[in-house]
Amino acid sequence: MDFNTAAEAGQWLTRIRSLDLPRPVRIMNVCGGHERTITHAGLRSALPPGVELIPGPGCPVCICPEEDVYDAIQIARTGSVTLVAFGDMLRVPVNGPKREPRSLEQAKAAGADVRPIASPIEARLIAERSPDREFVFFAAGFETTMAPVAAMLAEGIPDNLSILLSGRLTWPAVAMLLDSGTPGFDMLIAPGHVSTVMGPEEWEFVPREHDIPAAVAGFEADSLLAATYAVMHQFIHRECRLINCYPRAVRPGGNLRARALLDQCFDVVDANWRGIGEIPGSGFGLTAQYREHDARLRYPQPEGTARKRAGEMPPGCDCARVVLGKIYPNDCRLYGAACTPRTPIGPCMVSDEGACRVWWAGGIRDNASATDPSARTG
Ligand code: SF4
Repeated sequence: MDFNTAAEAGQWLTRIRSLDLPRPVRIMNVCGGHERTITHAGLRSALPPGVELIPGPGCPVCICPEEDVYDAIQIARTGSVTLVAFGDMLRVPVNGPKREPRSLEQAKAAGADVRPIASPIEARLIAERSPDREFVFFAAGFETTMAPVAAMLAEGIPDNLSILLSGRLTWPAVAMLLDSGTPGFDMLIAPGHVSTVMGPEEWEFVPREHDIPAAVAGFEADSLLAATYAVMHQFIHRECRLINCYPRAVRPGGNLRARALLDQCFDVVDANWRGIGEIPGSGFGLTAQYREHDARLRYPQPEGTARKRAGEMPPGCDCARVVLGKIYPNDCRLYGAACTPRTPIGPCMVSDEGACRVWWAGGIRDNASATDPSARTG
């Protein structure tokens, strides 16, 4: 069976509907872009009954530890530093003391020099323009974001720019779920953008070690439906392998240049995930060569009570369970009530890649925690 033919979304849907599943199944995706297409194109309601598409750990802003956001806020508040960060990070709330700014946006409103940027190179250009001022780049993201951060470092950055690094690898979170014994999904749609950088081989452990069918998908509905069909077809025929349904962008071995830059600039380290805890080997840390640009060494933050509290999830916030695919966004009792894009309680409602924000933007207003599971219409 060729899963890479250039079939249209409608043709893939027809093929999916022709499959005879022995039982209901749950298919997890781990990419905010995938979740956006699934929700906005209405793919869930187009699939046959018994096929659930679950958003998993696919949003880097959502899993960025509160302590890192808290540290960024404190560094920005020193007054002598300009803090630059991707726009999504500015609105992420932390559980800090009420008398203090609880987001970078609030710190900015209180007078701190906080600036949104769109790319790592912008951080370098801003710092080069003002050599007498110190700049900190709060760099949070998955492999696809860390590759351009590595490229910036490798090209050379000015002395007055340091990095508050909060980079994460995607696959260890999926491995952690699978190792837990209760992953909560039967098949995996692997992220095309991460595979473009790291190579599809990074996801081969899923079928090989866990007997879970997997397929790499791109962002378009046809690629996602091809991947959905690929994993369902395997499930029915008791096959188990990784199928690349995004071959025009995802090549064996990934992007060798990008991977070399990642190896040059970063060590793989154990890392904390917001609301989830430490996942071994899931983070990027600066290699010794770049340690002089480590903002954590230039601006060490004391381990005070406020910082410890900032590491706690806000009361009632269910972001951790949303990120792990344990509940749907509108299963959180705060969804659409206390928590909306205008008044986000958790990061999943802030980022464009956060499942709660994606569902809200997709027009889903029902709070399933107060009704029944059929309200999950994303
Ligand atoms: S609705 Fe808000 S508080 Fe609840 S999981 Fe989503 S972002 Fe977190």
